[in-house]
Amino acid sequence: MSYERKILENLRMPTQKEVEQALLKSLFKNNGVIKEFGVGEKVVEEIADDFHLSEEQRATYLETIYRKENRVKKSNLWHRLLFRAADSLAKKNLVSRPTQTILLTNKKEWMLTEDGYNQALQLLHIPVAQKEILPIKSYEVEKIVKKMQKQERKENYNPFENKKVVKTTRETKIRNRAFSQVIKEAYNFKCAVCGMKIYSPDRLQWEVEAAHIVPHYANGKDDIWNGIALCRLHHWAFDIGWFTLSDNFKILASGKIKNLPTDLGKLGNYDFIGQLTKEDLMICLPEEKEIYPHPNAIKWHRENIFSQ
Ligand SMILES: [Zn+2]
Repeated sequence: MSYERKILENLRMPTQKEVEQALLKSLFKNNGVIKEFGVGEKVVEEIADDFHLSEEQRATYLETIYRKENRVKKSNLWHRLLFRAADSLAKKNLVSRPTQTILLTNKKEWMLTEDGYNQALQLLHIPVAQKEILPIKSYEVEKIVKKMQKQERKENYNPFENKKVVKTTRETKIRNRAFSQVIKEAYNFKCAVCGMKIYSPDRLQWEVEAAHIVPHYANGKDDIWNGIALCRLHHWAFDIGWFTLSDNFKILASGKIKNLPTDLGKLGNYDFIGQLTKEDLMICLPEEKEIYPHPNAIKWHRENIFSQ
């Protein structure tokens, strides 16, 4: 039995398989990414806590003696175990390695792949359909997000999808999630109209939604320029035509609002629909101009959805 194996057994450390599963769950809890394992890194302690590791189990070092160089290298056993489990997950293509992820996000992190995400859901008994609404990152989705962010804004932008491009269901689903992520991040998870920002008690899901300006049913693209982040109420009001936007991002409210019975559209004292009629009300825009909604998409909404 090797020196390392002996120590692992004596200390009753978790098996590699157990650590792999714990890592997948931890990746899920941390929105799909965890940092490289280092001393003082939160995730290293979190997973150790999950296994109720003792101080001794956390603090044991292995000594490797390099006789030729007359040097002893010490490495923390728990970190080694974590690294080996992550390395094994990467070999099975369930996570991307920090050296690979950094090319995409500029951060040295382990990130779930789509297959890894599916396995994490299985381990946590969460239906795969939840992927549509959970904000967990995956390597494949992140690749599309990056592509969307890098695209050049064009004056003559066409907000309609080319019908001839055939996409598989998997591709479509990944693109939907990338669209949702890109829009929510661009608007800092706030409704562009009312500024509402709130997450679920487990901090995993945001209330805000990524709304298409030209909707899917009208063949609208999943693009950063064809989207806007809205709370559920304002998403509904936008999709149904209670309001639209001018080319300089002012809110244009439907003239029919004034004919509404007074008991409609109120949230307590907040007149959610009447608010829209305020003059010169602008939406909150992303920081960079490059990713503002495109006038070509807005124009279509004004002409086809908005109810004057
Ligand atoms: Zn809102």
